[in-house]
Amino acid sequence: MSNSPLATYRRITKHKNSPRNHKIDRITIHCMAGQMTGRGCADYFATTSRQVSANYCVGYGGDIAISVDECDRSWCSCSGSNDHRAITIEVATDSTYPYKCTDKAYEALLNLVTDVCRRNGIKKLNYTGDTSGNMTKHKWFAATACPGAYLEGKFPEIEREVNKRLSGGETPDEKKDLYYVQIGAFSKKENAVAYELKAQKAGFTTVIKTATVAGKTLYRVQIGAFSKKENAEAQAAAAKKKGFDAVIV
Ligand SMILES: [Zn+2]
Repeated sequence: MSNSPLATYRRITKHKNSPRNHKIDRITIHCMAGQMTGRGCADYFATTSRQVSANYCVGYGGDIAISVDECDRSWCSCSGSNDHRAITIEVATDSTYPYKCTDKAYEALLNLVTDVCRRNGIKKLNYTGDTSGNMTKHKWFAATACPGAYLEGKFPEIEREVNKRLSGGETPDEKKDLYYVQIGAFSKKENAVAYELKAQKAGFTTVIKTATVAGKTLYRVQIGAFSKKENAEAQAAAAKKKGFDAVIV
């Protein structure tokens, strides 16, 4: 069992059962009732004496943190039978009704749920409004408003959007979030081409991208696009070793 590559932080809490005793076949979306970062929420679960946790924490800015590995059961929904089979996801929300989340958090949630389904062989989300489906709610297992009116209202849309992506629909956000490694930007195309050749001789695959900045055309020389920041950083470091002034854009 793996974790989501979309996560940028992992801090494991002791509030869990290891391993889970059921295959992952449910998603349970929760509201934090606080506008935290994913990282801050994972830090909280790692340090609080309250017996609470979640597999993932999605921050208001869209960052995703792991608090309990997917192979383990989180203490999130007040239900062992649910949490042994669910990936639980805390989403940053307002602390008051209707517990609204930001658009960035919502987008990150859609990406995360899609990724969890893909890696765990969940072919389709099925929101039935009860536990016969595979999207469950904390409030079905305890006296709580969680996931809150705002996210609850989004469940049918989450089901629809994730299923569209799972059935091979386009995933624009995965493209938008790429990290590009750039080694130079030139106002003259021939200078960019010359620099590109130099990079190619050093073993890099290159591309020149044009951009208009303050009315002027810029030719940017790039040596890779990565969905994971650490991979982009590794490429940038390799370029620096060979004398290129690499930056991640
Ligand atoms: Zn909850």
